[in-house]
Amino acid sequence: MYESIHFRSRGRAVTSASDPGVIAELTAIVGEDNIIVDPAKVEPYGADAVKEKFPPEAVLFPESTQQISEILKLANKRLFPVTARGGGVGYTGGAVPVEGGIVIGTDRMNRIIEMNEADLYAVCQPGIRTIELQEAAAGKGLLFAPDPASYKDSFIGGNIAENAGGMRTPKYGVTKHSVLGLEVVTATGEIIRTGGKTVKNVVGFDLTGLMCGSEGMLGIITEATLKLIPMPEATSTVRASFRSMEAACEVLTRFTPEGLLPMAMEVIDRRSVGAIEENYAFGFSQDTEAVLLVAVDGDREQVERDSRRIEQILRENGGFDIIRSENKEDEDRLWDARRAISPSLMRYGSLKINEDVVVPRSKVPELIRRIDGIGEMHGTFIANFGHAGDGNIHVNFMCDREDPDSIERARRSVRDTFELAVELGGTISGEHGIGYVKAPYLGIAVDPATLEVMKGIKKLFDPNGILNPGKMFV
Ligand SMILES: Cc1cc2nc3c(=O)[nH]c(=O)nc-3n(C[C@H](O)[C@H](O)[C@H](O)COP(=O)(O)OP(=O)(O)OC[C@H]3O[C@@H](n4cnc5c(N)ncnc54)[C@H](O)[C@@H]3O)c2cc1C
Repeated sequence: MYESIHFRSRGRAVTSASDPGVIAELTAIVGEDNIIVDPAKVEPYGADAVKEKFPPEAVLFPESTQQISEILKLANKRLFPVTARGGGVGYTGGAVPVEGGIVIGTDRMNRIIEMNEADLYAVCQPGIRTIELQEAAAGKGLLFAPDPASYKDSFIGGNIAENAGGMRTPKYGVTKHSVLGLEVVTATGEIIRTGGKTVKNVVGFDLTGLMCGSEGMLGIITEATLKLIPMPEATSTVRASFRSMEAACEVLTRFTPEGLLPMAMEVIDRRSVGAIEENYAFGFSQDTEAVLLVAVDGDREQVERDSRRIEQILRENGGFDIIRSENKEDEDRLWDARRAISPSLMRYGSLKINEDVVVPRSKVPELIRRIDGIGEMHGTFIANFGHAGDGNIHVNFMCDREDPDSIERARRSVRDTFELAVELGGTISGEHGIGYVKAPYLGIAVDPATLEVMKGIKKLFDPNGILNPGKMFV
């Protein structure tokens, strides 16, 4: 077991998946080419974007739903943990087998089964990368709207299991808003189907919604039917600097009364601006206390009209150094500043604890002001940026990997920030989920009665607790 700043093992007794008998049975299910047990080769499957390592005993790459069903039946009989893995770029350790056992890599279930232009849906396997589905849809003039920034690496199965969000959330919602139906293998190996191919479907309980954000703890998604929409003809982005975070965030509510629904609204705080200026010199002026990026999409004339009006609104409300993109290259340049933040912050510490609290968007200024106070109280450098349009802020606690005291102070800052988000009417995660990293804090956001309902659902789907143990409930 590697040292973790987040995880404390519950030391649950389970059959070791590396038992030769178990390995032989697993090999018989998936074939020799689809299993790895060599410790050096399984190691990369023991980490995600949290970068802490818990190597599995074996990694399997099943090629069919039936194989996944057989694996889970065996795991449920012999009682060893099974953790599903997509692209492995989750931010909460969801795909990491903290209690050992096997990892099911969905890499070889990566086909688009159907792309239906008439009925606006795609059916695909879980192992397809987000970018591959987006490109295939774009090739037919269609848009798959969910767009986590990790779209080049994340898999559709992982996005559904995390209910991932992205830049386009203010207009198009999060992943669950684009999921019509699923095929899922439960922990006992049953193959179930939820939802269907229609936007409307009110037959029985909404199990599709339940699976979205279930973090691989209720079942393994083996097929997804996803909503597509016509590809908007054009997009444009307007960027403005502000002299205060309050001023920047107050503008967020000024667009809808004008009949405008921006696709993306992202805010960058003064510390993040400072970090990118020191690293890349984008040319933000000294008095920039916050930056707002607002993007619209639609047909060309509408985008031109809307982006001009947005520029005006930003100016009328204290925005300065305003730039409006005229073409794709301009637009990419404007977003470069946003993309530069994460790497730039690493100059302030060797370890970045990246949280993603969410509050009603009118509370974002208060959230950020009070987070500054938390940082000062605990002596932690905290930088904020993110999806202000939906109130989901990436709060980055910088500390020194070699300095346990700085980590401890950052953890105290994290707890205070979570409590603050809940106090402001929000919650502790908008898109990254709970995994093992946020598990100790779940009680801050979920009351005991609701928690018991969640645990009951887990028990129903996974009576022996073999699916992704060590996550969410600790
Ligand atoms: C640079 C970067 C940017 C990011 N930007 C965003 C962002 O904008 N928005 C956002 O929401 N997140 C973002 N993330 C977090 C992460 O990329 C998302 O959570 C993403 O959806 C994870 O997908 P994945 O395929 O890597 O899942 P993994 O990390 O492999 O797994 C995540 C969870 O899903 C489960 N899982 C995986 N596949 C299945 C399956 N087939 N069935 C059931 N459970 C399964 C795993 O067990 C695990 O619990 C970002 C991460 C990075 C590193």
